[in-house]
Amino acid sequence: MSSRKSIQKKPNAFIGDTFRASDAELLKSGILSDVMVICGDQTWNLHKTVICYRCPFFEKAFLGKFSEARDGTVTINGEDPVLVGWAITWLYSGASSEWNSESGIGVSKLVDFFQLVDYLDIDQLKTIIVSQIESVLLKAARDVQANNNDASNLVEPFLNDFFYAANTAYNTGSTAFWALRQPLVDFAANTRFSVCKNPSIWKRLEETPGLGTDILRRLITNGGNADEDGSLLVLTQTPAKCVRCKKERDFYPFTWLKDVDTSRGARRLALVGNCDTCHQAHLERAKESN
Ligand SMILES: [Zn+2]
Repeated sequence: MSSRKSIQKKPNAFIGDTFRASDAELLKSGILSDVMVICGDQTWNLHKTVICYRCPFFEKAFLGKFSEARDGTVTINGEDPVLVGWAITWLYSGASSEWNSESGIGVSKLVDFFQLVDYLDIDQLKTIIVSQIESVLLKAARDVQANNNDASNLVEPFLNDFFYAANTAYNTGSTAFWALRQPLVDFAANTRFSVCKNPSIWKRLEETPGLGTDILRRLITNGGNADEDGSLLVLTQTPAKCVRCKKERDFYPFTWLKDVDTSRGARRLALVGNCDTCHQAHLERAKESN
């Protein structure tokens, strides 16, 4: 294949439920296939009408002026055939069961998949992969909060994955990988920044100073929202219960200090926070009133 830079960007060719079961069947049977894709020891018999419309890389390869268009064969070198298979399956069926956050997949594999999909230039799939990375990290952050905000329960494989993602998001030249940054910063914030109190994690942050800076920015702005009392104090604790629904929860995506009157007329600052449910409802209302 020639330079990917020559591939023309175009809007997502398909959205939502336009995947058809018959397309999945075409992939399985290979019937009426008119092109071949090879990666490593894997070969797929595919259909121009399906893959070229949904993937600019294949469109360029099979409908362009390259020899691949004449031969009807594209070889993808240096990529993992498993990941190529995932992308092809998604192009045909929209299926993500092998790599979504429910599958138990690690963040580093999703980052590798993101890199491949960036190469194949499938914007819609990139967005989906980022949302799966968010889900995996959100689950880990919930576990940290449930463990009394103690990040020391994060296991080495998870941290290796996390910093692999961080290295890709911050140290790769291409701006395409900036999309991976937000989930990483969100993760630090969703642990109520307790990851920053863990010396070994802090040490590893030195490998990606950009992430350290972004976490610091989030830390001092508390997500960019001055809290309801105008305080921007750094809060690394979670409250005992949600300030809105009054229920005891094990996850608080948003916390702040509230100026309260005590029964004896004195004033003090109390740590309060929204649980996930109330925070989402709050964001919805804010969106509606805008
Ligand atoms: Zn609540």
